[in-house]
Amino acid sequence: TGIDRYAVIGNPVAHSKSPEIHAWFALQTRQNLQYERLLAPLDGFAAIVRNFISQGGRGANVTVPFKLEAHALANVLTERARAAGAVNTLKFEADVIEGDNTDGIGLVTDIVKNAGVPIAGKKVLLLGAGGAARGVVVPLLLEKPAELVIANRTQSRAIELVRQFSNTEGNFHASDFAALASPFDIVINATSASLSADMPDIPGAVFGRNTLAYDMMYGKQATVFMQFAAQCGAVTRDGLGMLVEQAAESFLFWRGVRPDTAAVLAQLRQSL
Ligand code: NDP
Repeated sequence: TGIDRYAVIGNPVAHSKSPEIHAWFALQTRQNLQYERLLAPLDGFAAIVRNFISQGGRGANVTVPFKLEAHALANVLTERARAAGAVNTLKFEADVIEGDNTDGIGLVTDIVKNAGVPIAGKKVLLLGAGGAARGVVVPLLLEKPAELVIANRTQSRAIELVRQFSNTEGNFHASDFAALASPFDIVINATSASLSADMPDIPGAVFGRNTLAYDMMYGKQATVFMQFAAQCGAVTRDGLGMLVEQAAESFLFWRGVRPDTAAVLAQLRQSL
């Protein structure tokens, strides 16, 4: 009954690299599927999903600003989607909409496997308290860092996030930007500041010689955050690997096979 259909749903969605990534995955794993972009009106996410299901949709990635709505729409949640309180991957079975969240595992895989930097026992600083930050807290804590500090421009949101995860094991606490005075092993920028060529107002002291400064943003050029961190002596990495790794986890969730990400990451890097 036709080719299996998948889509990325967002607003805006034109910039999304997911169609290219999943087309490469499908080719590599010899899976016969079609993957498209769907622009949902800001008040029409659920309607777009239902319409896509009725037209044979088998699954979808969900991007800004619908990850919370996708969480609410799913009838079944994976453990990590429940923990994150946000969904970036939907799978459509007979009568069930299943929700997963692969952002956190995508980040952890890119840092630990691709960059070769263990998180276990390390001091980790997470900047931001929006959807992206929230999705990575539990996967980061599962790696057992020595401590995970979260700092956000609006400090109350960081404190609220810590409260929300108070049942999760691990040394997890909030700090304000100004109080950050010593180097971390890993600093993760999960703010959207880089989108506007901006830099979170943090002291350079958080970056040491061996610090990994990770920006979830990606592009042709290094972000302002990466440039600042490099000047402070840190090693930098952008979020393109996280993007490809979260996509591979979504593909596995849908198709039961995990694509090889290295070749696709290299291809994507070249196409920027
Ligand atoms: P949200 O809009 O939910 O949150 C934005 C966050 O950024 C808030 O914490 C906000 O602080 C902070 N912020 C915005 N501007 C500034 C600034 N100038 N200085 C300091 N802090 C600032 O966004 P998301 O969490 O959904 O996304 C964050 C980023 O992560 C985006 O750039 C997105 O592209 C990226 N991302 C990348 C992924 C990947 O696979 N590589 C996956 C998911 C996200 P405040 O609370 O004070 O407003």
